Amino acid sequence: MSVAVEFFGGLRVIGSSKIMISTERARVLLDMGLDIPGEPDLFRPPVAERTAYRLRDRLAVGAAPPMPGLYDPDQLAPGSPLAAPDRRPTAIFLSHAHLDHDGALAFARPEIPLHAHPDTVAIEAAAAVAGTGAELDLTAMTAPVAVGDLRVEALPVDHDVPGACGFLVHTPDGTLAYTGDLNFHRDGGLRSAEFVRAVAGTTMLVTETTTLSFDPPPGAAPYEPRSESAVLQVVAQALDAAPGIALLSAYERDVERAQRLIDVVRGRGRTLVWPGQQATLLHHVGLRGVATWDASRPQRPVHLEAVRRLGAAADLRRVSLAAVEATPSAFVVQPDVDDTPALLDLPRDGGFQPFVHSQGEPLGPFMANWAGWIEWLAQLGFTFVAAGSSGHATGAALHKMVMDVHPGVVVPIHGFRPEALVVDVPTLLPEYGVRYALDGTPLPV
Ligand SMILES: [Zn+2]
Repeated sequence: MSVAVEFFGGLRVIGSSKIMISTERARVLLDMGLDIPGEPDLFRPPVAERTAYRLRDRLAVGAAPPMPGLYDPDQLAPGSPLAAPDRRPTAIFLSHAHLDHDGALAFARPEIPLHAHPDTVAIEAAAAVAGTGAELDLTAMTAPVAVGDLRVEALPVDHDVPGACGFLVHTPDGTLAYTGDLNFHRDGGLRSAEFVRAVAGTTMLVTETTTLSFDPPPGAAPYEPRSESAVLQVVAQALDAAPGIALLSAYERDVERAQRLIDVVRGRGRTLVWPGQQATLLHHVGLRGVATWDASRPQRPVHLEAVRRLGAAADLRRVSLAAVEATPSAFVVQPDVDDTPALLDLPRDGGFQPFVHSQGEPLGPFMANWAGWIEWLAQLGFTFVAAGSSGHATGAALHKMVMDVHPGVVVPIHGFRPEALVVDVPTLLPEYGVRYALDGTPLPV
C-alpha cells in the first residue's frame, strides 16, 4: 500500500494550505489555514461570522474543505458525514503562526494532537491573551514526532514570524518536504539555507510560490526585497525628518522586527505606542520597552480587555494623550485601522507627518479597508512612506531552492500562479479530490 498525499487547500490561492499525508496506519496534516477563496470572500468585512456556527457556515459555502474525520463534531451540523472519526492515529503540524496556516485549527477534533515549534507555541499563546488568535492546545516540538508509520521533523526557515518551520515527513515510500512559508533574504536566510541542505534529494517537495503570483510593473526590475537594516533605515530617516508626530504600521507577530522598531524609535528619542492588543502580544512574548495608552485615550473594548487579561503586574508602559499633545516629537503611534477616527486624537503640526508602512494593517490595496484609510491619511496631512519587505522568497530564490533540493517531484502551491514555477524538475500541479503517490502519480480512486 502506497503513501497518499492529498491537498485540501492552497491550490491557486495564497494561503489556506492543508496537506494530508496518509498510510493505512496513520495520517499527518501539515497546516490547517483559514480558507481564502479564489472567488470573492463571502466572509470579508462587514460580514460578521457567527461564533458558534463558523465551521458549518464556512463548509456550507465552500470556505472550508470537507476533510473527513478531522473536524470537531460539536462544530459540525447535526448528522454531518464529516463527523465520523478515522480509526488511524492522526496529528496536525503547524508550520507558523499566520492565519492562512493556523486559522482553521480551532475547528479540529479536540483529541487530535497539534504540534508546532516552541516559538510558534509562544506566539499562539500570546495571541490568545491578546484576543487576536484562538486558544489552541499546542504541543511544542523539541524532537521528531512519530505518528504510526510516519515521522515528522520540524526544520526552521526564515519567514517573518518567529518559529517558522518547514517539515520533512518520513514515510515508508520516501520523504515529503514542505517549505511552509520561507524566504532567503531575511538576516542572511541561514535557516532556509539549512532547510535546503536537510531536505536535498527528497522524494516530493511541496513549496509555497507566493511571489510568483505577481508580475513586476512593466519595465520595472524584478522585485528586490529590502533587508531588515534597510527597513530600519527608512524608519529612522522618516522620524528624523518629522518635526512632530509620526505613525508606524507594523505587524506585531513579526516579533523580531517589532523589537528592532521599538529600539530604533527609542534611539531617536521617541516612544512607540501600540494599541492594547498589539502591546499585549508583544509584552507577553517578552519584548522590551513596550508601551500602550492609558485610560485618557479611548480605545476599542478589545484593546482594554487584552491589557486587562495581561494583568496589573505587567510592567507595560502607559502613555497619556496629554503627554503626546505636549511633546508630539517624543512619540510614534501605531494606529488602529479599525478605529480610523481615533487619528483625530493626535496632534498635527502641518509639517512632514509620516505614515511609515512596514507590513502592518491595512496590508495593501487588495484589502477592503485600504482606500478609505489612505483618504483619511491624505485628509489629515500624513505622507505615506513605504518600509516593508516581503516575508516570501523571490521568484529567483524559489527557482534556486528547487534546483538545489532537486526533488523527485516538486509541487508548487500557496500562490495564484503555481505554473510560473518553471524548473528542470518534474512538476505536479495538483487538483482537489485527487490522492497522489509520493512520486506525483495520481492514485486510483
Ligand atoms: Zn506566512
